[in-house]
This record gives sequence, C-alpha cells and structure tokens, in this order.
Amino acid sequence: MPLPISHGLVGASVVALNQPQNPILCSWQSLLLSALLAISPDFDFFLVWGLQLGRGLHRGFTHSLIFAGVVTALMLMILGISRIREAIIYGSAYLSHALLDFSTTKFGGGVELLWPFSTQRFKLELIGLSEFPIGFKLSEIIKYSVIELMIFVPLLLIILLFRKFVILD
Ligand SMILES: [Zn+2]
Repeated sequence: MPLPISHGLVGASVVALNQPQNPILCSWQSLLLSALLAISPDFDFFLVWGLQLGRGLHRGFTHSLIFAGVVTALMLMILGISRIREAIIYGSAYLSHALLDFSTTKFGGGVELLWPFSTQRFKLELIGLSEFPIGFKLSEIIKYSVIELMIFVPLLLIILLFRKFVILD
C-alpha cells in the first residue's frame, strides 16, 4: 500500500516525463495538479470511513481503468479539445495510482482494475511496498515514508533533469 508520498511523486513523474518543452506546462502547478490526481483514488477512504460504506470499497471503482478514463474525459471537458494531450497526460497521472498499487502489493488486497465488468482484485505479488503487517504505528509510517522518498524523489529529479536538457518533442 504505497503512501500518498509515492503516489504523488509518481503522478508528478508521469507528467514531467510527458510534458512538452513548454514553460507553462513545466510549471510547479502542473506537477502539483498531477500529484493530487495521482493521490486522489485513495479519497475513497472518505466513503469507507466518512460515510461508513464498508472497507471493501477501498481500492474499488476509483482504482479502475474505466474510472481513469472518466477522469481523463473530465480533464478534457475542463481543458478543451485543443489541450487533449494534457488531458490524457493528467488522466495517466490518475491511472498511475492504480498501477502502482497493483505492482507494489504482495500481501494486501489488490485493486479492482476491471470494475464495473469484474470485482476481481488484481495484484502483482512480487514486492510489497509499505505494507503494514502489524498495523499503522507512527514509527512504521515514518520508516516507510523515508523509504518511499528515497525511491521516488530521485526518479522525479532524474526525469526533470532529463526533460530540461533533452528535447524529445
Ligand atoms: Zn490506492
């Protein structure tokens, strides 16, 4: 269960990797928006804890490919058809959340990638990132936060440096 740190950094990395060499699109606002989009699937916790709709809702529809498509469509409606590339990139940042959960879950519950067609939960089961076998202790959260920062901050920095000095568009 990657923490919001990882999701935000991976979402920002997705956008940083795909941004054209445009100073407006390379802005911190763009990276922040993508980080928020990448964290947002876990807002399903508001449904689980806030509305008491049941723990089974977590990693459900908000983590599906279809819902990532819905978010992309919403971004397209907000940004307009002339900015379709940005909408797709932001949608990819949102999708990165489910893919990161899927690829870094070994012991916990997987994600409903194929909702609403299937409620089967998928997980890669190769590595478990920030899985809490003995509950959420503050010391464990701090330890896993540091580990996630050490993994994903360098990734984002490498991409930003790469994009600054290498023109791909
Ligand atoms: Zn999640």
